[in-house]
Amino acid sequence: MISSLSPAQDVARQLHDAHEQIKEKTLTHRRFKHQDIVPLLQALNQPLSVSQVGESLEKRPIYQVKAGSGPTNVLLWSQMHGDEATATMALFDIFNFLQAKNDGFDTFRQAILTKTTLHFVPMLNPDGAERFQRRTATDIDMNRDALRLQTPEGAILKNLQQTLKPLVGFNLHDQNPRYSVGKTGKQAVVSFLATAFDEDRNINEVRQRSMQLIVGMNRVLQQFVPGQIARYDDEFEPRAFGDNIQKWGTTLILVESGGFNGDSEKMTIRRLNFVAILSALKAIADETYRQEETAAYQAIPENGRLLFDVLIRNATVMREGHPVLVDVGINHNEVNDKAAKTFSYKSSVEDIGDLSTFYGLEEIDATGLMLAPAYQYSDTLDTVSELAKLDLIALRQQGVLVFPVRKAQADTFPTQPVHVLYDGELPAQPLQLEQIPTFLLKKGDQIHYRFVNGFWKENPDTLQNGVID
Ligand SMILES: [Zn+2]
Repeated sequence: MISSLSPAQDVARQLHDAHEQIKEKTLTHRRFKHQDIVPLLQALNQPLSVSQVGESLEKRPIYQVKAGSGPTNVLLWSQMHGDEATATMALFDIFNFLQAKNDGFDTFRQAILTKTTLHFVPMLNPDGAERFQRRTATDIDMNRDALRLQTPEGAILKNLQQTLKPLVGFNLHDQNPRYSVGKTGKQAVVSFLATAFDEDRNINEVRQRSMQLIVGMNRVLQQFVPGQIARYDDEFEPRAFGDNIQKWGTTLILVESGGFNGDSEKMTIRRLNFVAILSALKAIADETYRQEETAAYQAIPENGRLLFDVLIRNATVMREGHPVLVDVGINHNEVNDKAAKTFSYKSSVEDIGDLSTFYGLEEIDATGLMLAPAYQYSDTLDTVSELAKLDLIALRQQGVLVFPVRKAQADTFPTQPVHVLYDGELPAQPLQLEQIPTFLLKKGDQIHYRFVNGFWKENPDTLQNGVID
């Protein structure tokens, strides 16, 4: 049988399959910290070497991992935004891969290590990672600091680019998981960008190489997530690193890890980063990217903004005594716990009205259903822990979803699917923009859906948590 896959797609499939074995197993979620990666860096062996390239504002050392001895320099950095950790995990998987032997990939690995010299900077913003926030400890967005260089971390990046003069740079980020692929309702799992270097978005040799490399990465990834790869908006941002590095003569590839439904810790996308980056490094080593057409880059759909986490279609809500037909778009937003080690969801009503041109990662057809307020428990509890004494299943059955409480820790949401009223009070309307989506969908007296904090499933396996309002 003749395989319809190209050699690069075949190898990508093998890398994808091998990832489970190769991956760095101590990294299991996105909120790991600098102190979690330091021992991993210290344990790296040949052919990798580690050196410190500077430190963050709060004096966390920032390291460079070097591999290979080839004439072509490649610079890869991750997590310049502290809460965008997916690619950092993939870089540690790549470190494991580069150290491995006799696993069927020796030729592949040697091609990369003899033709290129790789310089990795994992977690460029360790202070932001500590808080799991986008910005640095100075509260500056490093990716708007390429000109002013007020962040020590941004200065490190510019210095590396200026001294190494890499042929190619990989700028590794996470994007909003609700980007869609063009006008489809498909979630953009990964988006790429051959970043513009000027307002007119001209294509010179440097930027053309970005497009060619992205065409190859897109092709290898399509077999795993068909139709779910997109292209980031290429509007020129004069303050950003990607745009400037492209201008300074390094072919710049932006990789944005998006969302993959049901995989909030992004392990699937981590694996796709592993596959895409290694495939691109091989294409750089072999110069096979030169065969790619830039038209194939232009054909990748742009990111769209057509997704909600939940879309309720055709519900009826009463307004001043009149029934109004509405769709309701709901998003589940992550809220860090105090130590930024884990998170809860706090959901919000993002939009109300005719949302027929939008999609939901999950959708409910509420045709014939009335959106009505949830019922409030008749007593006021002293603390959230008293919820455990109540028959929550029976109360939920009756539509009682809201529980007034006298004392609550507003940053620790209940694990039960309940809406705790502490500071807040229920709005007069069961449906308002930006409110926490807790309500019922009913037909007459019969309750069809019970929404608490934007979640409705009775299935205990579904990620959901209550909320303190
Ligand atoms: Zn980012």
